[in-house]
Amino acid sequence: MIIQLKEDISEKQKDLLKAEVNQIGYKITEVKTQLGDYLVGIGKKEFDIRKIGKKEGIKDIHIVSDEYKLVSKKWKVNPTSIDLGDGVCIKDGDMAIIAGPCSIESEQQIRKIIQHLKENGIKMMRGGVFKPRSSPYAFRGLGIEGLQLWYNLAKEEGIKIVTEVMQVSQIEEMYPYTDIYQVGARNTQNFNLLDELGKVDKAVMIKRGISGTIEELLQSAEYVFSGGNEKLILCERGIRTYERASRNTLDLNAVPILKSKSHLPVIVDPSHGIGIREFVPQMALAGVMAGADGIIYETHEIPEKAYSDGQQTLDFEQSALLADWIRKTFALRKKFELL
Ligand code: PEP
Ligand code: MN
Repeated sequence: MIIQLKEDISEKQKDLLKAEVNQIGYKITEVKTQLGDYLVGIGKKEFDIRKIGKKEGIKDIHIVSDEYKLVSKKWKVNPTSIDLGDGVCIKDGDMAIIAGPCSIESEQQIRKIIQHLKENGIKMMRGGVFKPRSSPYAFRGLGIEGLQLWYNLAKEEGIKIVTEVMQVSQIEEMYPYTDIYQVGARNTQNFNLLDELGKVDKAVMIKRGISGTIEELLQSAEYVFSGGNEKLILCERGIRTYERASRNTLDLNAVPILKSKSHLPVIVDPSHGIGIREFVPQMALAGVMAGADGIIYETHEIPEKAYSDGQQTLDFEQSALLADWIRKTFALRKKFELL
């Protein structure tokens, strides 16, 4: 169960309530976020919801049968919006476009990409400065100095930054320069990292684990929410299956399923999903039609020269076309939704 508490609930009322819920046989965890104060009750016993609901200090009470609770749509029917300021928002009923290189490489590269994004009305830029690479000898990112450089250039142009955090110690140093912390597929179940991201008041985008289930992705988001941060975005980026013809298997089934199970926005990453440049656009558009709230893809002035993931990176011409088609496809989807 989830009990939403009133802002003015007294400590005494809260203690009484906790005791009462404990008595029924539910284990209570108190969660305080930027937006509210909740008691999450874990238990199976049937009880009279009206009896608890009438107690003082309660705003609302909900029965949530899912394993995950706070990220479930069973209690919060209205979709969650992520407002990044300056009119940039990720939300249901809208189409966010996040584009940029796999890795941040140099000042010149950042300037060129920002220019490209501006020309195409794209307000969010992705890029890694801490790169999880399968080989320890591959380029591993420019680190915090690269992020500072990027931030200074992006800020001037009102571009928001989406970048991967790999470990707890990076959260604080990245904070002033980051709009959305990306949790990569290799870290989806790094529960210490998720716990710590619960303590920040900036948005967190969690990618689906390499072999992760939909339920596991939702549980990862539950970690961050229950740690105190409601600003969450889910990202389908493909899973590892027996298929070797593509880098991953982009599981677009996950999009409507996630949207039906959770109130959180869902983004699709076709670049890592298929891993083949020429097929990224169609998978992006398929993601739009599947119901995604946004698309994140990789672009670079000269993809062949990119320090990482060049094989799945679009050049600027392809990127400009894709951004246009994402918007057109989204407009088409809106028409379908009216049917
Ligand atoms: C990335 O976004 O460049 C990345 C490493 O993604 P993932 O964690 O999905 O592999
Ligand atoms: Mn990449």
